[in-house]
Amino acid sequence: MKESDLKISIAHLYPKQLNLYGDMGNIIALTKRCEWRGISVEYDEIGIGDPLREHDFYFIGGGQDKQQQEVAGELYKNRSFYLDERDKNAVFLGICGGYQLFGHYYQPFDGDKLLGLSLMDAYTVAGKKRFIGNVSIKTDFLSPETLVGFENHSGLTYLQGDTLPLGKVIVGNGNNGTDSYEGGRYKNVFGTYLHGSLLPKNPHFADFLLELALEKRYNDKIKLSKIDDDIELKTHYSLVGKAY
Ligand code: GLN
Repeated sequence: MKESDLKISIAHLYPKQLNLYGDMGNIIALTKRCEWRGISVEYDEIGIGDPLREHDFYFIGGGQDKQQQEVAGELYKNRSFYLDERDKNAVFLGICGGYQLFGHYYQPFDGDKLLGLSLMDAYTVAGKKRFIGNVSIKTDFLSPETLVGFENHSGLTYLQGDTLPLGKVIVGNGNNGTDSYEGGRYKNVFGTYLHGSLLPKNPHFADFLLELALEKRYNDKIKLSKIDDDIELKTHYSLVGKAY
């Protein structure tokens, strides 16, 4: 199929509540990288109380504990829908607070435990220290191998079972500041603490996720054409290993 015959549907979950540190930039990167290739994008913002329908790609950003509390009940109420979508190989990308709600629960410092979607076998508990700063990690599935971003979280995430990390921490704290891992991945569900926003500075990861979502939609491996990422990659490499 020509790229201009392709289509992808993207659901942006609860952007009014979870969109910290410009996480909307991830949606802009995904939609632009499709438009530059002539791939049409169906983009839906999902708000509290909105009906759900199948999409190829689900994105959820980060937020303060309060905003997570506003969204967690709504997500949990629809968990069987999201688990079905996961098992149909839909792609999920969650950033920080959104990532935390992909696990079994997030226990904030104050207030009740927030039950998560259990899209990945992981859990998060609030720590005493807030991790703030630049992060670089090394993956084993991307080229270039590195991902760069910015973290600001007190939540400590612990991966369990078949959940894989996104990568090893080169600079920064990552999931919990002790096991040297950052992010989580199970099937096509990806979570990370990397704000920034993440995808504009990591175009190779944006295309990796888009190819997975297109493979899910067309049930066929799709290799996206190369686009000029000179500026994006210059920015990426200028940040690899940079602590501040
Ligand atoms: N409120 C969560 C925490 O502090 C998530 C923060 C975020 O999304 N940046 O860990």
